[in-house]
Amino acid sequence: MPCCVKVFVQMTSLGIYVQVPFCQTKCTYCNFHTGVVSSSRFAPYVSAVCREMKTYRDLYSAAGIELVPAISENATVDTVYIGGGTPSLLDPAHLKNILGTVRDSFRCDLAEVTLEADPETVEAQKASAWARAGINRVSFGVQSFSDAELAASGRIHRRADIYRALPILREAGISNIGFDLIAGLPLQTPGSWRESVDRLVELAPEHVSVYILEVDEKSRLGTELLKGGKRYSAGAVPTEDQMAEFYELAQTAFSAAGYHHYEISNWAKPGLESRHNLKYWRREAYLGFGAGAHSFSGVQRWANAHDAAGYVNAIHNGFLPVEQLERLTPEAALEEELFLGLRQLDGIDVSRIEKDYAVKLASRFDPLASSGLVEWNGPGVRLAPARLSVSNEVFVELLR
Ligand code: SF4
Repeated sequence: MPCCVKVFVQMTSLGIYVQVPFCQTKCTYCNFHTGVVSSSRFAPYVSAVCREMKTYRDLYSAAGIELVPAISENATVDTVYIGGGTPSLLDPAHLKNILGTVRDSFRCDLAEVTLEADPETVEAQKASAWARAGINRVSFGVQSFSDAELAASGRIHRRADIYRALPILREAGISNIGFDLIAGLPLQTPGSWRESVDRLVELAPEHVSVYILEVDEKSRLGTELLKGGKRYSAGAVPTEDQMAEFYELAQTAFSAAGYHHYEISNWAKPGLESRHNLKYWRREAYLGFGAGAHSFSGVQRWANAHDAAGYVNAIHNGFLPVEQLERLTPEAALEEELFLGLRQLDGIDVSRIEKDYAVKLASRFDPLASSGLVEWNGPGVRLAPARLSVSNEVFVELLR
């Protein structure tokens, strides 16, 4: 080949998600498949996750997952998200091992490597080891600054842990820190919510997420609420209207503090939006490793089995325990474009979607625009910023 001819290989960016399904205690509102287990189970689990990564091509082929270019050699991993559960419970050597395996198994140009952490688990030595392993972003499950709410929800950390952990992380050189809050915890009042929002703004994390408590019968609190009981302070859960007010108060306070509201539940200092999570809403490819981890190749979606012990066993025996493997139909892909796209405050490009899917969409949005739930924005449409707390109404109408 003459030396002046350049070969252009199309590069696509890929996200990696690693699920760590272990916690110190079970929060009363939790409906995730996570467990409180002996720490002796961490090492075999990490070893299975690393083996899944190293052999993913063979495991996928055997499981009927197509190795499309978005998840094969042409892809460059630029984001890693280690979530859970409480992955900060793992020994830092385990996290180093996981990230080393990502680098060995994929072409990498890592821009954002996130670890979810409980503030109570943060120590100086651990934080330094996280930074040395390449973690440059920590997402804290703060949930509330009220000790009464944290205790009622079964959280292990307290307000003092948030104040103790933050400088430790900054000192370790981790400069991109996210705080999560939950609107609707038992015992939460307008005053205590205002306090949590104000204290958060004062600490100025780079990123903020606000989740509205969902009552799910798979959680202890949800079961209690559904039967009208009082355990877990179920009698003191704010009403749905109050939760919507809490959300709107946060919206106003974060915007006044200079945060960019870029997704229904997420705010960031400009330029520090979560690159990894944006892939979910933009329908870009990501591979999930570990028990219960979900993946998307652009063509197929699948998830690993939830049971951690069963997962370790399956990987040890050389097969991937895939629970749901689905090839998206054009109709399903279109629904995702609308449902995920509209979660972003910039909205969706209607003309692009009409072209890609050979559909007419304008008529579906006109009644929603007339009732003030969405607004036209040039060739696109977005949720009306003042009606975000009722965004579910829009999705119900659209998917009808
Ligand atoms: S820390 Fe998260 S995953 Fe673990 S029990 Fe609490 S809500 Fe569930």
